[in-house]
Amino acid sequence: MLFESLNIIEPILKSIKEEGYITPTPIQVQAIPIILKGVDLIGCAQTGTGKTAAFAVPILQLLSANKSFDKKRKIRSLIVTPTRELAIQIEESFNAYGRYTGLTCTVVFGGVNQNPQTNILRQGVDILVATPGRLLDLMNQGYISLKDIEIFVLDEADRMLDMGFIHDVRRIIAALPQKRQSLFFSATMPPEIVKLAGTIVYKPVKVEVTPSASTVDIVNQFVYFVDKGNKNALLLDLLKDTKIKTALVFTRTKFGADKVVKVLNKKNITAEAIHGNKAQNARQRALSSFKAQTTRVLVATDIAARGIDVDDLEYVINYEIPNISETYVHRIGRTGRAGANGTAISFCDAEEKEYLRDIEKLITKRITIIEDHQYPLIDNNPVKAPKQQRGAHNRPRSFTQKALVPDRRNSRR
Ligand code: AMP
Repeated sequence: MLFESLNIIEPILKSIKEEGYITPTPIQVQAIPIILKGVDLIGCAQTGTGKTAAFAVPILQLLSANKSFDKKRKIRSLIVTPTRELAIQIEESFNAYGRYTGLTCTVVFGGVNQNPQTNILRQGVDILVATPGRLLDLMNQGYISLKDIEIFVLDEADRMLDMGFIHDVRRIIAALPQKRQSLFFSATMPPEIVKLAGTIVYKPVKVEVTPSASTVDIVNQFVYFVDKGNKNALLLDLLKDTKIKTALVFTRTKFGADKVVKVLNKKNITAEAIHGNKAQNARQRALSSFKAQTTRVLVATDIAARGIDVDDLEYVINYEIPNISETYVHRIGRTGRAGANGTAISFCDAEEKEYLRDIEKLITKRITIIEDHQYPLIDNNPVKAPKQQRGAHNRPRSFTQKALVPDRRNSRR
């Protein structure tokens, strides 16, 4: 199928072509005609599936069919998304797909001075992309009114809930006009999300693309069993491979991300961390250098990296395996986008074997084990020191192993 058969208007078709898109992705095939009809939609899809264009293209088309010629533009479409990185990417997409429509789009998010944002808002925009906190803040200060919203999008609703934005989301919804079109996107649909959707959409049509088809099958996935203490050495060893032009490395903590960056920098590998403790400008700079490939390795925590969209990113490295299996799918979804090549490499120490087992259950496939490497797992039974046993790591390992931990996890492989 081609974009032409989706009844998309010429100015948008032209920009889509310039983006290099030829065929619409499954979520686009399903969602675009429904949204163009003006009905509400619940989309179950994660980033990496072409979700942004699936709502941005029809929104641009609907708004341009009915252009308001007021000198002062009013905000007619609002997209609320949980992270600043996602917000920026969505705004970039609207501006790319909408560049021949004459419609304008801007983005507001927290962590930066609000003045440049309010200066643009004062001039008037048609489409606003926002994170919840800054949106409410600017609404309270009178810079933003939602009374003219025709189309509302709640993006990554499940993440919104995870990040504790539920009250903010409720306040935003309360400020929207009753008569509107609402589009609700979430990667997963647990009961609380279904309940939340019920308060936003009216007689929705549901479309769904499963992550297992889109990500899990496209990305080549490998696991290295390695001792915790050898993960840095293994990472340095892998990065000797010049085929790895850029890699996105995930750590569980901000502190861990900074530590990995230090190790890489010491060996003259350009690396930067991106996480919640960094100022927004520093995060954006790090992301831009990574996209431009002047930084080879971007080390990220899950929240900061959610939705990072880097064209042609081939390698994702899980320095630590996430304990929530869905997070693994989100992480590897940063690569292998829109049919490109993707490789996900996971470092698994003994304690993480159970997380790996859960992930394999979720994705219903075994991840290929790389056995032949320089740092094979030796310490199969590291002690998880119980709280009262702090300092136990000072004891000889063999003693604590025998004393505290039965050889349970070993049975997996
Ligand atoms: P998203 O799921 O919106 O984050 O999009 C994932 C990536 O796919 C982005 O880099 C888009 O530019 C790209 N993309 C979206 N739609 C298409 C398409 N129809 N063909 C090729 N690439 C696409």
